[in-house]
Amino acid sequence: MLQKKTTKEILEENLSRKVSSGMSSLKIWLHNIRSLHNTGSVFRSCDAFGAGEIFLSGYTPVPPRPEITKTALGAEEFVRWRYVENPIKEIEQLKQNGYTVAGIEQSFNSLLLNQFLPKPEQKLCLILGNEVTGIDEEILPHLDLCLEIPQFGKKHSLNVSVTAGIVLYHFMKAFEGC
Ligand code: SAH
Repeated sequence: MLQKKTTKEILEENLSRKVSSGMSSLKIWLHNIRSLHNTGSVFRSCDAFGAGEIFLSGYTPVPPRPEITKTALGAEEFVRWRYVENPIKEIEQLKQNGYTVAGIEQSFNSLLLNQFLPKPEQKLCLILGNEVTGIDEEILPHLDLCLEIPQFGKKHSLNVSVTAGIVLYHFMKAFEGC
């Protein structure tokens, strides 16, 4: 018989799972995100998939804000995050520390997410962009690559927090067993 688990049972299972080293070193970076709700939602997904850290920069809102908590359901208390003052400097620093810095963006020469498999120990930092204008032009030249989620419909882009969820799930699967 199919029966839903209680919150307690779900939490016990969650905590018994081991997060892969790929996911615990993975960073999700929100640059110039307008919406508090999108930001909160990304916190919730990062908590769920065991992402190591969230970077916030530009005018992306930072906790504590009630609207972030509303969609994060409090996950902003559990996921490590920090505000990045100088994005370009930070990107160059990350690269020096062995990170691949990828834009999650629909751009020329982007690789399709579903065709991109990370190396087992690859350290990834994934940048998502503004709801209307995407990743800022001045950031693009500093990125190692862009990853794009293929779409089939009449609308040309996905909501940024939905994108984050898809990307996190992809890498959670890709790092499985690494
Ligand atoms: N660039 C779009 C709107 C940005 S959508 C436009 O020109 O109208 C906001 C952010 O969501 C993007 O910067 C990107 O990080 C992410 N995003 C949305 N759809 C995406 C897709 N199909 N592939 C990769 N990233 C996507």
